[in-house]
Amino acid sequence: MDKIELEKRVEELNNLLHTYGHAYYVLDKPIVTDAVYDAYLQELIGIEQEFPDLIFPDSPTQRVGGEILSGFGKVEHVYPMLSLSNAFNEADLRDFDRRVREATGQNVSYICELKIDGLAISLRYVDGQFVQGATRGDGTIGEDITANLRTIHSIPLRLKEPVSIEVRGEAYMPKRSFVRLNETRDEAGEEPFANPRNAAAGSLRQLDPKIAASRHLAVFIYGIGGDGSEYGPDRHSDALDYVDALGFETNKERKRCKTIDEVIEYVNKWTEKRSSLDYEIDGIVIKVDLFEDQEQLGFTARSPRWATAFKFPAEEVMTKLIDVELSVGRTGVVTPTAILEPVLVDGTTVGRASLHNEDLIREKDIRVGDTVIIRKAGDIIPEVVAPILENRTGEEVPFHMPTHCPECDSELIRLEEEVALRCVNPKCPAQMKEAIIHFVSRNAMNIEGIGERVVEQLYRESLVQDVSDLYTLTREQLIELERMGEKSVANLLGAIEASKENSLEKVLFGLGIRHVGVKAASILAEEFGTLQSLMQATPEQLTAIHEIGDKVAESITTYFSNDDVLEVLRKLEAYGLNLTYKGLARQDIPTEGLFAGKTIVLTGKLFEMTRGEAKKEIEARGGKVTGSVSKNTDLVVAGEEAGSKLARAEELNITVWDEAELLEALSEKGSSL
Ligand code: NAD
Repeated sequence: MDKIELEKRVEELNNLLHTYGHAYYVLDKPIVTDAVYDAYLQELIGIEQEFPDLIFPDSPTQRVGGEILSGFGKVEHVYPMLSLSNAFNEADLRDFDRRVREATGQNVSYICELKIDGLAISLRYVDGQFVQGATRGDGTIGEDITANLRTIHSIPLRLKEPVSIEVRGEAYMPKRSFVRLNETRDEAGEEPFANPRNAAAGSLRQLDPKIAASRHLAVFIYGIGGDGSEYGPDRHSDALDYVDALGFETNKERKRCKTIDEVIEYVNKWTEKRSSLDYEIDGIVIKVDLFEDQEQLGFTARSPRWATAFKFPAEEVMTKLIDVELSVGRTGVVTPTAILEPVLVDGTTVGRASLHNEDLIREKDIRVGDTVIIRKAGDIIPEVVAPILENRTGEEVPFHMPTHCPECDSELIRLEEEVALRCVNPKCPAQMKEAIIHFVSRNAMNIEGIGERVVEQLYRESLVQDVSDLYTLTREQLIELERMGEKSVANLLGAIEASKENSLEKVLFGLGIRHVGVKAASILAEEFGTLQSLMQATPEQLTAIHEIGDKVAESITTYFSNDDVLEVLRKLEAYGLNLTYKGLARQDIPTEGLFAGKTIVLTGKLFEMTRGEAKKEIEARGGKVTGSVSKNTDLVVAGEEAGSKLARAEELNITVWDEAELLEALSEKGSSL
């Protein structure tokens, strides 16, 4: 892959991981298996390690996954609640061991613990009394779920000693409670939870504590906030014994290991034995035991270097493939999904599996009626691994992709070098709906309150045919829709109105021009300043921009030469959408001044001015303000509570100023760079 393709791939991976992460962490309804998520994440980590300048500021590798739900109070964690790096095989574990020993000396010992599949919580006690419980949230700020946690019996409300302490652990739903809960939901006609993890998270993120109380959750404590040395222990295993003595429940299957071979033995044992437990585990956490060693190893922005999580290999089960269903995506790609005879795997009922594309189906010779092996790594849409040929009766029917679109019946086309079949009819209803869903999504116009279900209804009722129609919606039209109350209508109309003020790059990304992802949209907006001047750009002007290649340029010019597109854009403008870039366009950045030619990153809280104001001041002096710290950064201005970007700047030996130094420089008293 050349650099541009890599950039595109990075952007694609970022988008995918954001979408999957949102479904998993925020909605508690994952849409892909952990294995798929992890595979994309590992691919991204691989590229980012080789090309640190491709690390986006909001890359999922740079932060802890969750977001805060509104409705809960916020709790700022005294010590960040981080994620864990992953190991998938013995080689990864040995690698981890090598890194640890290189940093700490040879005689390191480990402690292995079961990785409970629930959600992380923090519990705070003052003088032995439970005062506050929180979720991990985004790692820095979590949700206050004290009332819900009080309902869990394994959380002591008073400790055996009157200490003030913060402990961390995993809240989980035992398998038995999970099966019972889903049975009840099923009887009540409610959608079952995908797995115990989502059920636990969903139960604790309810505003009514009675719900949590009825869900039979439990907690294992796995550590002390900070480390715990202030309470006496000098190693993690002793800290766990200490929290045990305080009256908490810790998991007793933990084991201290003196060598990585012992760790591997423990991992192998539990890989075999895990289904015998009455709670789900999704791996083994391996931690360096001695606090002194932990301190030496430190943290990355996302996880401690002194611990890693071994993830169990994907699980495989057998079932029958009953049918193949087709769906049409935003870009017209037609994707086949296997409809399966529902099969229970570790408490999760699986009824659908991804088949990817026709080539793969043919290659694996998967037929309707086959008994198939499906692979699953702890959750939902798994994939079909292979058919079991021995089980064939001769009744199985080979599957062929249709020649025409299942939604609009126009002929499907296989574009050169692509495995996928596409419907190229721009008026295909499936694509139009997907285009609207994309337009309102977080990285695009970020209109909250419109999901797939609402779009489906709006389209069916002919209220919205293309994205511009969103801006004509009225209260009267929306209130008629299913499950829409006054409050949600008001919120939705507010969100639509607010989106009119978005800067140009959001609109550009939202339009869904092929090959124009978040990053390209931002570059184009910055470069051209207005939609009008972008529309008039020639292919040569476009490719003159370093980051824009032939394919992207061609896609942009083709897009803007389409009459239907022009009509939609004309309407968007007429409805009052902002179509200009709100930062300073590149061409307007002066080439002289204090910061001429310098790339600057702003991070942390500023007090004397907003970040937007600081950006303007810097740009007015020739500097370019970007979001991520890389080796191309010349200066990082770190306000208060600056986090990972500051750490990264220090790692790369980049000059760091505080706000006062920036102010001084801006008043032209300070030093130049
Ligand atoms: P993680 O689950 O890999 O590891 C960190 C967490 O492990 C901690 O926050 C803690 O809650 C938990 N944990 C359990 N037992 C522990 C113990 N004994 N000691 C310490 N921690 C323990 O990290 P993450 O960032 O929460 O999530 C990443 C994982 O979530 C990935 O493995 C990924 O597969 C999955 N995920 C899946 C999807 C999806 O769409 N399927 C989306 C996002 C994330």
